[in-house]
Amino acid sequence: MAENKTIEVPDFITVRDLAALMEVSPIDVIKELMTNGVMVNINQQIDFDTAAIVAEEMGYEPHSPDEIEGDDEGEALSTWQELIAQEAEKDLKSRPPVVTILGHVDHGKTSLLDLIRNANVVEGEAGGITQHIGAYQAEHDGQTITFLDTPGHEAFTAMRARGAQTTDIAVLVVAADDGIMPQTTEAISHARAANVPIVVAINKIDLPTARPDFVKQQLSDVGLTPDDWQGDTLMVAVSAKEKLGIDDLLEAILLTAESLNPQANPQGTTTGSVLEARTERGRGVMATLLVQNGTLKVGDTLLINDHYGRIKAMYDYKGKRIKKAGPSAPVSVSGLNGMPEAGEQFEIVKSEKEARRILAEQEREQELAVAQRRTSLEDFFSQMQVDGQKQLLLIVKVDVQGSLDPLVSSLEKIENEEVELEILHAGIGQISESDVMLASASDAVILGFSVDVGPAARKAATSEGVEIRTYDVIYHLLEDVEKAMLGLMEPTYKQVIIGRAEVRQVFRIKRVGNIAGSYMRTGEARRNAMARVIRDRKVVHEDRVSSLKHLQDDVREVKQGFEFGVNVARFEDYKEGDIIEFFVTEQVQPGQA
Ligand code: GDP
Repeated sequence: MAENKTIEVPDFITVRDLAALMEVSPIDVIKELMTNGVMVNINQQIDFDTAAIVAEEMGYEPHSPDEIEGDDEGEALSTWQELIAQEAEKDLKSRPPVVTILGHVDHGKTSLLDLIRNANVVEGEAGGITQHIGAYQAEHDGQTITFLDTPGHEAFTAMRARGAQTTDIAVLVVAADDGIMPQTTEAISHARAANVPIVVAINKIDLPTARPDFVKQQLSDVGLTPDDWQGDTLMVAVSAKEKLGIDDLLEAILLTAESLNPQANPQGTTTGSVLEARTERGRGVMATLLVQNGTLKVGDTLLINDHYGRIKAMYDYKGKRIKKAGPSAPVSVSGLNGMPEAGEQFEIVKSEKEARRILAEQEREQELAVAQRRTSLEDFFSQMQVDGQKQLLLIVKVDVQGSLDPLVSSLEKIENEEVELEILHAGIGQISESDVMLASASDAVILGFSVDVGPAARKAATSEGVEIRTYDVIYHLLEDVEKAMLGLMEPTYKQVIIGRAEVRQVFRIKRVGNIAGSYMRTGEARRNAMARVIRDRKVVHEDRVSSLKHLQDDVREVKQGFEFGVNVARFEDYKEGDIIEFFVTEQVQPGQA
């Protein structure tokens, strides 16, 4: 048999044009479509997927024009760390460290950032800095340090939850007169969860009530032992008010950076993270980006999640227009068609047209991802089977200190050869939004004992897909964790997605109600499966399939490429463009290895 002939099929094509492409009679095309369950006339348009099925069956090899362009940029973006791991050793150059300032409220984060900014930034010709873009660079001993100037672990962890690891070093500010406070403990947990080394700035040493040694003792008690006490945490006494110790602090940051040796390839694939975005009168969307690999240039086309645009103008942190920027440089750019979110990663694509094509492709892929959930206690074990996840990460909140210590030590005693249990953060007080963001960034589960869940936390937990479990009996909490680790949490089911269809038309049928006239895009639909209706990437309804029809007949299953009618139990409100996802649940045997 002759080899299949390649034809280029657009996203939508009329039956007549498809027939012409294949040099066959339109009647034959209509017949072929009918055998596949698609009823159309000669002037009707069919989409690429349908045309492709017919073309293949008629001995052709269909391609979309995009495919023929021959690139694979629709694929998921690798993180900048992955990119750097792929760079050749010889191309890697040292880059300035990126620093975030964390600590309890009023301990002096903003004061320190302002002081360093004013004292150590090389000023522009205009004299002084006019722009605040969310980050700046300071010089010390001829070396550059990038400071992110949105202080606090909330911003830090929110970025991490979006997938961005922007920070190399965390400076933990602790007021010498106040010592460790709740947000200090949180900040330590957040920095540790991100695996970021901590440099401590003991601030306000100008105060007569300052007790730096007491603070050092407190820090040692939580595992941060000062270097002058044979530990490995650099601690510097400073005063933002009296401008004391700032050089020592910068020195300590550079020393820590030296052992980290942060690197990137200035000639490599350009990528980085969004630090912030806002709209400015006359300039449109201004986004602050941190370049993490490669070199960003004016004229490059950015693609950031679902926004894109050609960089019209680029400014450094002093507000000076620049043409290009390398690794660790914060820049502010104009030209995007919408507001990206802090923590989103950017990439460079060939053109705005290419960006639109990638977005269309990603939209299809994201429908796939919608139902994927983060870790929950119940399905921790089944996920462990699937992903080989061996670590159960917990965040524990309790009402009073008196119950915290016994709970933590009981949890630590739940040993298991298979699973490592790690408590990312243990604290007192209600479950906060910050706890949820930490859980989201680290894929942890939150356990509360005799505490409430704040409204903001509840909202964040829903949108981030984080599980919160609260208990009034410690024994029940421990028992659940134990069961989860043994895979005994009943019932342990695994959901398997078997297919995905798109609603093309809604039919009203007397006595039956609304039927979703759908097209099976991938996989298959089964009469005995469950289904969820997805709209704008959100699940709007989930129930069993109550009817499945091909043409007029009830059928048991429908395969990819076919049109069919479906009804999901207790649902009527289908809309064109909805995605119906079919899934089955399979039981995972407890203890199954
Ligand atoms: P943040 O909430 O951590 O950003 O703290 P701020 O930088 O806003 O500082 C909180 C308060 O502490 C302000 O009133 C500052 O003036 C004061 N402060 C900051 N640093 C020092 C310091 O070194 N010494 C003294 N005495 N006060 C300071």
